[in-house]
Amino acid sequence: MSKVVSYELIDHIGVITVDNPPVNALSHALRQGLQDAVTAAQSDSSKALVLLCAGRTFIAGADITEFGKPPQAPSLPDVLETLENSTKPIVAAIHGTALGGGFETALACHYRCALPSAKVGLPEVKLGILPGAGGTQRVPRLAGVEAALELIISGNPISAADAGAMKLIDRVVQTEDLKSAAIAYAQELVALSAPLKRVRDVQIDPNSIPEGFFDAYRRKVAARARGQIAQDRIVSCVEAAVTQSFDEGLQTERELFMECLQSPQSRAMRHAFFAEREAAKIKGLPADTPVRDIRQVAIIGGGTMGGGIAMCFANAGIPVTLLEINDEALERGLGIIRKNYTITVQKGRLSQQEMDSRMALIDGTTSYGDLSKVDLVIEAVFENPDIKKEVFAKLDAVCKPGAILASNTSYQNIDDIAAATSRPADVVGMHFFSPANVMKLLEVVRGDKTADDVLSTVMKIGKKIGKVCVLSRVCYGFIGNRMLTGYGRQAHMLLLDGATPAQVDAAAEAFGMAMGPLAVGDLAGLDIGYKARQAREAAGDTLDPATHCVASALVEMGRLGQKTGAGYYTYDPQTRARKSDPEVEALIREHAQKLGIRQREISDEEIVARLFYPLINEGALILEEGVAQRPGDIDIVYLYGYAFPASRGGPMFYADEVGLKTVCDTIERFARELGPDYWQPAPLLARLAEQGSTFAQWSKTQE
Ligand code: NAD
Repeated sequence: MSKVVSYELIDHIGVITVDNPPVNALSHALRQGLQDAVTAAQSDSSKALVLLCAGRTFIAGADITEFGKPPQAPSLPDVLETLENSTKPIVAAIHGTALGGGFETALACHYRCALPSAKVGLPEVKLGILPGAGGTQRVPRLAGVEAALELIISGNPISAADAGAMKLIDRVVQTEDLKSAAIAYAQELVALSAPLKRVRDVQIDPNSIPEGFFDAYRRKVAARARGQIAQDRIVSCVEAAVTQSFDEGLQTERELFMECLQSPQSRAMRHAFFAEREAAKIKGLPADTPVRDIRQVAIIGGGTMGGGIAMCFANAGIPVTLLEINDEALERGLGIIRKNYTITVQKGRLSQQEMDSRMALIDGTTSYGDLSKVDLVIEAVFENPDIKKEVFAKLDAVCKPGAILASNTSYQNIDDIAAATSRPADVVGMHFFSPANVMKLLEVVRGDKTADDVLSTVMKIGKKIGKVCVLSRVCYGFIGNRMLTGYGRQAHMLLLDGATPAQVDAAAEAFGMAMGPLAVGDLAGLDIGYKARQAREAAGDTLDPATHCVASALVEMGRLGQKTGAGYYTYDPQTRARKSDPEVEALIREHAQKLGIRQREISDEEIVARLFYPLINEGALILEEGVAQRPGDIDIVYLYGYAFPASRGGPMFYADEVGLKTVCDTIERFARELGPDYWQPAPLLARLAEQGSTFAQWSKTQE
């Protein structure tokens, strides 16, 4: 028998123990071992079997390192058939997380018990696939169709108690000794001559499902799926659980699983899964780099960002002090935090008690003297270099040695800020995204002098507060905002060339973006860019009117975006639905004429290429300059910080899928047709295109 699965007989109960650290992933050896153990147990003196796992969790899921490799028998569905056809009842005993194939394994057993702390779920949709070992057939048979759809389409795990209420778990055992409890449960079942409860034998009454239910559900998920197919195919599988026999349903599930697995979007989502794990690693930093202890945090500035950042720490149970310029600003900042929590409580997503304990972790002050004991300070004051340097000089004077001094600046040079202190090795960028308590991305900006242990500490604390951290070097806008410049510029220039705002946004949204660039501008407020341009002009920069003239004119007309009810669009005051405005279209024509631009029909294909290829091109520059460590890191920045469609895997993965030659040739064509100003292929892109290579291949050579 294989080493990862062991078997022992305890009081006529055959106990099968899986031990495949770290998470008991369903490797080939595990599948084989399980199959052998159940088969052998059929002819011994056991009266019932218990399946449990050693270590910190039940089978946590598939072994995704086997994805894309030739399948090795026995397949998981085969193993589960053996389990379900056992002539002796099998009790699955769940602790930790039973996810994906792990939960499907438990569902193929005849009874399930779990610790109260256990969680179960089918997260396959997050990798662009669906449960492929009976999950879509067994869950609706136990929990009902609607609950099954919700569970499988969300991909989110649920607690043992919720799973119990959904009949997915038969017994939640109130003990820490799961093994004894599971054996006792099995003995009870034997004593009662309890039936072999095979989920496959449950039939769902088709008449219990309202007419048209599945089609309506499909339409509902399509609206949210942003181009992904897995959600739609999950609905088809669950429908098959109602309309087909169990075996036919399994067949349908298998076919649709294979379709999803082979789709480019699943490839993209698996890429993102691995890229996220890679991004957490800093090249050249040994794994045993020490980390500093972070027990107390301070935030400077309690505005939009500071308040959200304070919430992140309080949510993770870390005490935080908010410093503002005066009592009034402090009260305002704390008031907004309180209001945000209250809304969450009203929505039923947070208990009042939990809110109170989080608020109790947030303290306010107007005095720098109160920061002498903190371990980490994050500055989030106005985006003004002089104010920031002043703040850092004050922090340098009051903070204890070893305190980490971080800035949330979007654009300022971290090295300049560090130079305002006597301890540049302790200075780092922590660039959160708005709203900071919601958005998962954190760009960790490494200054020239930032110490290794400061980086390791910030990466660790970022993870602790639920962020996905990506390392960036210092440059204007770091990875994400620097790349975005070309995207925004082209959105504007496309208008002058003849596309309407609705057409530009619709093309970006059809590509999979949650919201097109112009609608995003309206949402954020067109005055933000306007003020930034004013500042640049005041500093002596000359700006190309073709990149902003319409946006500036809108601001000067008082059309700042959603907050004034009008920007590129007009907005319904009740529903916030956007509507095209002929006045804006006339304004665009007028500006095009003024600049001597002849307007023309623009295809959606051109819009997509002009929006996204500049991202890729800037990404290539960022890679070659070493600002980002890997193309996958850039993808993670875009997936988590800019709502780039998961089904595309991020801009650099998307470029590899399109083919770098196509991207490069198109950029060169735009240089000829639209002028060379903004269309110079990055040297790395040109080189890889010429070699027929990809960013992914190049990245391997840089490890
Ligand atoms: P904000 O104007 O909402 O808040 C700034 C706060 O800082 C104000 O409450 C102000 O009273 C306070 N403040 C100003 N000077 C101070 C000082 N010397 N000491 C203490 N408090 C002071 O600004 P914001 O949008 O929260 O931006 C803050 C920083 O975060 C900026 O550097 C910005 O570039 C960056 N950022 C903003 C966003 C965003 O989307 N808003 C996203 C990422 C990063």
